[in-house]
Order: sequence, then structure tokens, then C-alpha cells
Amino acid sequence: MLNTNNKILVVGSVAYDSVETHAGKRVDALGGSASYFAIAASYFATPTVVAVVGEDFDRTHIEFFESRNIDLSGLQIKSGATFRWVGKYDPNNLNYRETIDTQLNVFAEFKPKLGAEHKSIDVFFLANIQPALQMEVLKQAGSKPKIVAMDSMNLWIENNKDDLLKLIPKTDILFLDETELRQLTGMKNLIEASKSIIDLGPRVVIVKKGEHGLLMISIDVENSFSLFACPALPVDPVIDPTGAGDSFAGGFMGHLASIGKNISELSSQDLRKAAVYGTIMGSFTVQGFSIEKLKIVSDNQIENRYNEFVNLTTIS
Ligand code: AMP
Repeated sequence: MLNTNNKILVVGSVAYDSVETHAGKRVDALGGSASYFAIAASYFATPTVVAVVGEDFDRTHIEFFESRNIDLSGLQIKSGATFRWVGKYDPNNLNYRETIDTQLNVFAEFKPKLGAEHKSIDVFFLANIQPALQMEVLKQAGSKPKIVAMDSMNLWIENNKDDLLKLIPKTDILFLDETELRQLTGMKNLIEASKSIIDLGPRVVIVKKGEHGLLMISIDVENSFSLFACPALPVDPVIDPTGAGDSFAGGFMGHLASIGKNISELSSQDLRKAAVYGTIMGSFTVQGFSIEKLKIVSDNQIENRYNEFVNLTTIS
């Protein structure tokens, strides 16, 4: 599973999150798309984080990232405060959350900078940030990495759709949730909508459906079209769903990085296994606030959950 020789670069947010769910609340806990992604991916490969934090960012978080072998050479520390996000979930339905406050702080002026050692990394994940910044990272990379994946959100689909449509053809894997995919394509049917994205260039579209799992539409090494429906792994109790999508992406991309293939060499089995590892990393994240559960997972627990998943979805 873990292949420390293989690296994976993530550009995204490192944040302080204040979150309230039916289970309680946390104030200024470690969050951000790049944090969840990198921690989940660190169970499979060696992540490098390209992000920005303020001078108020706690040293203990840096030490924790380093203890998970996460490379912080791309983490800028700027004068000012770290990005803050405040969210509150509907106590009766964790699929609904309200963003109470977003304070960009040092993130407002974020200019990702790739060093020479970052440009040679084979697998890139462009987490949910402004599409122009995602594009800037690819430009700095120079030649195309073996696999480029991206995420986005409704804000950019509404306000920066042209930039997104320029970026998507330069990527291989697109992660979006079902409402975002419908919003982006104007198509209701998720298969038709995903195929229209594949027509733009990516070989894989992952349609996230929250607690209902995901649909993956892909083109494999044989150039065959494949459809995979993957449920979420049900856990009880769910404490806080924040970061589940980014942890999913971390497990998915971490698995792909660990096997070291180029996007066009991936079989549909490689991609399905990645989807299951992603699902498992998401299932750990929702079992605690912030990264409380994700950070204490063991390789054995991941493998046990993999087997649990197979059991859950096999008829025999
Ligand atoms: P998810 O639950 O997968 O949507 O991810 C939530 C994470 O995204 C939280 O940890 C937030 O800190 C982070 N986040 C929220 N809004 C933004 C934003 N506008 N840009 C970047 N990251 C954000």
C-alpha cells in the first residue's frame, strides 16, 4: 500500500475551521482541502503541500504534518492570519451545511510557487481553489505530470466558468459533486454530463454523492468506457463530514501515486481500487471533528476496512 518513493503534489487551502454539528463543535481546528488531502494521501505516498498560512499557524500542526512524512517545502508562511472557515450542519441532516463565515486572510493574496523539486513530481492534485491559480500551477510545472486531477466548487462554476473550461482539458481526472456537475454541464443525467466532460479531455470523472457514495465514469488502458457505482462505507456515528471529499481524493490519488502508472496505463480495476481506498479514507474523516480520526488511522485499519467494504458489496 504505502510507497514512500512516489510523490504527490497538492495545491489548496490549509485552514482553521470552526464547525458545529449535532455532535458538538470545534473552534479553529485544523482544516482546509490540502490538509485533509495530504493526510489521507500520506498513508499511500509522500505528499507535498503547496499552500499558504499566516504567522498564527500553530507549530504543532507543522510538526504533525512532518510526522506523517508530508513535505512542507511549498508551504508559505506570510504575515497575517491563516484562512478561516466557519460552517454549521443541519442537526437532522448532515448533507446540509451552511457556511457562516469565510475569512480569506493570507489566502486572498496566495500565489502558488513551485520549486524545481516540485516540478518533477508525477501526480498533481489541484484542490478547490480559483481556476486561474490551478492553471498557474500547471504552467509552472512545465511538462505535464503523469496524472493531473482537479476539484472545483459552485462558486467558480458561477463566477469563473470560462477559466474552468480552459483548465479541464489540461487535466485527467475531475472530482465534482453531482449538483456541481449538473451546474457545469447544464445536463441532468450524470452519465451524459460526465461523458460531455470526457469529450473535453479528462479520462476519469468522479461524481460525488455525499453519503450515497459516487459514480465513476472512465476510459481505461484498453480505451474502453467503464462505469462504476461505489457506495459510501456506512459508519456509526458520523461526527463531522467536513473534509470527507478531500480525504476521498487523498485516498484515491494516493493509491494511484503508489502504483506509479501514467493516466493512460490505468486499468478499470486500478481506478476501482482507488475509489474504494478513497471511500475508506473519507469514512475515517467523518468519524471525528477536523482530522481527529483521520490522523490516528493505522495501515491495518485501512486494510480491514477495505475487506469490510468488499464484504458489504459482494453477493456470495
Ligand atoms: P469539504 O467538506 O470537502 O467541502 O471541505 C471543507 C474544507 O474546505 C474545510 O476544511 C475548509 O477549510 C475548506 N474551504 C471552505 N471554503 C473554501 C474556499 N472558498 N476555498 C478553499 N477552501 C475552502
